[in-house]
Amino acid sequence: MASAESQKPTCPVCNQTDQVKTMQAAYNSGVARCAPPDMPTRNVSMMKPIVICGVLVGICIFLIITLIGGMESGLNQFVQLGLVVVTLCFIVGSLVTSYLAFQRIVRGDDETTVLFPAWDKATAQWKSLSYCSRDDIVFDPKTNSKVSDQQLAELRASATHQIKSELQAAVQH
Ligand SMILES: [Zn+2]
Repeated sequence: MASAESQKPTCPVCNQTDQVKTMQAAYNSGVARCAPPDMPTRNVSMMKPIVICGVLVGICIFLIITLIGGMESGLNQFVQLGLVVVTLCFIVGSLVTSYLAFQRIVRGDDETTVLFPAWDKATAQWKSLSYCSRDDIVFDPKTNSKVSDQQLAELRASATHQIKSELQAAVQH
């Protein structure tokens, strides 16, 4: 505890350390602008279509089983044919949707791979900053200067901005 206290950086405004917190501690205590950069997790949403497709395929299998049962009970031939067509449409549709969703996940993974170093860098920078609750300021202990809200917003955005420019650069190659 004593060593942690002595490592606290000095606030450039009040020149004291007693109210200085880490960015995480400041964010936990409700200072919204001390929020860490968002982690790149864009492929999570793509799992939903695949789950829906799995459910649809399950319904198709149920329909086929019902169809086989229906044959025995002398179901109308047109109804049977209709069930086969609908079932096939479901299966083909599910496969196509799964394929498209999967391709998007693969692409999303690529983006995340590019994005991750940028996010890592932004987080490391964010961790190096400190917050003084007496003056309600964020400052950089290395340069001993105040960090404006604009700079904080840029830092948070850098994780997602960098990827766009890097992707554009990759497309141009
Ligand atoms: Zn201060």
